[in-house]
Amino acid sequence: MDDCIFCKIIKKQLPSKIEFESEDIIVFQDIHPSADLHLLIAPKIHLDGIQNIGPEQRELLGKMFIVINNLVAEKNLTDKNYRVVINGGKSQIVPHLHFHLLGGKWYRFV
Ligand code: 5GP
Ligand code: ZN
Repeated sequence: MDDCIFCKIIKKQLPSKIEFESEDIIVFQDIHPSADLHLLIAPKIHLDGIQNIGPEQRELLGKMFIVINNLVAEKNLTDKNYRVVINGGKSQIVPHLHFHLLGGKWYRFV
C-alpha cells in the first residue's frame, strides 16, 4: 500500500526505532508511547486489520505471538504488568494490522 505509514516504515521510507525484524514481521517503538514500553508488532504484508485475518494467516499469526512472547521475556515483563492490544473498527487509527505490547506503567488507554 503506497500511502500506508506502516508500509513506509517497513520499507524504511520513514524512520522508526526498530526493535526486531524478521522476513515477515517488524517490531518498532510507538511514536507516541502510552506506557513505559510501547511496541508495535506488525506483519510486513499489508493487511488492513483483524477483519482481514483468515485461515491463510494462521502461520503468520502464530509467529507474531511467538515474537510477542520473546519480547515479553527480553523486556523482563513476564511477572510484571503488560498487555497486548489490537484496536479494530473506529478504535483503529492506522489501517495496517498491528498489535500493541504495553509494559510497565501505563499512561493512558490505547
Ligand atoms: P491504532 O491504529 O491501534 O489505534 O494505533 C496506532 C498507533 O500507531 C498509535 O499508538 C500511534 O501512536 C502509532 N503511530 C502512528 N503513526 C506512527 C508513526 O509514524 N510511527 C510510529 N512509530 N508510530 C506511529
Ligand atoms: Zn501497510
